[in-house]
Amino acid sequence: MTTAPPTSHTTRVSPSVEALDQQDRPYIWVNGELLPKSKAVVSVYDHGLLYGDGVFEGIRIYRGKIFKCQQHMDRLYRCAEAIRLKIPVPVKEMVEIQRRCIEANELTEGYIRLVITRGFGTLGLDPRRCPEPGVICIADQIRLFPAEAYEAGMRVIVANRPKTPVACLDPRIKSLNYLNNILAKCEAIDFGCDEVIMLNMEGFITEGSGDNIFTIKDGVLYTPPSDAGILEGVTRGFVARELAPALGYKCIEKNMRVEDVLTADEVFLTGTAAEIIGVSQIDRHDGKGTITQSTKVSPGEGPITKKLRQKFREIVTGNNVPEN
Ligand code: PMP
Repeated sequence: MTTAPPTSHTTRVSPSVEALDQQDRPYIWVNGELLPKSKAVVSVYDHGLLYGDGVFEGIRIYRGKIFKCQQHMDRLYRCAEAIRLKIPVPVKEMVEIQRRCIEANELTEGYIRLVITRGFGTLGLDPRRCPEPGVICIADQIRLFPAEAYEAGMRVIVANRPKTPVACLDPRIKSLNYLNNILAKCEAIDFGCDEVIMLNMEGFITEGSGDNIFTIKDGVLYTPPSDAGILEGVTRGFVARELAPALGYKCIEKNMRVEDVLTADEVFLTGTAAEIIGVSQIDRHDGKGTITQSTKVSPGEGPITKKLRQKFREIVTGNNVPEN
């Protein structure tokens, strides 16, 4: 076992063992063991760390259930296969690991992060030098955007940095390599907002840095197709295939330009962590520090977005949280 990292560089007085024990949560699954947070570490030779070589999942726990578990498992194993990584545990066991983490941390509401790394290897890219992939499961809490933003709507910015092309690294693969998204998000941060809209090399809308995008025009929902270069979000699928039809709305996959989004009646983002969140303003910048265009989409959360979000909340707080 590697020595635990210090919990804080500024701690002067050591907390009592009991207090430390309480702080040392959650219990985290690391390669076959359930460990307290400070002991949950991986090797510096793990290719997940050295090269971003691996895949991950973000999953919500609502009322003790693993929301859309089956779909997340399908995506995880599909993504692993796409990077030629054989997950060392079968799906059933992966679900068991998640349930053990939920139980050990006494969670009814929360967020699961599954991380599958290429594993411990040598310096050098060769994945053949990593005999055993790493399996990590963290069950904790997540808050992506401020609570007020759900009613007020978010201000987002169009990123100048294009999305990694499908032929280079397909954004349908939820890989540990998120630098393209992080650098796009930094553009948003530079202008004081929390999220970006990313375009592909052809100038079509793809998604946010960590969520999918929808527009609404004349009562119809639109979202970019997966070959535009997006992650096929579980929440996106839930909205398009279940929530929208249940409320009587049609959802169409369509390639869109920035102008289509700017002239939409409503715009919203979807994701496991974000759930459904409205966009109220979209800005563009020149890459030199200046906002060149600022468009109000809707004053606060749009009315159809609100209905979709309410329906979403009704289901995830109800008695039949779907695991499939
Ligand atoms: N796009 C990207 C790039 C993401 O990281 C995420 C979050 N996993 C999403 C979209 C939304 O996907 P989901 O609804 O499955 O969380």
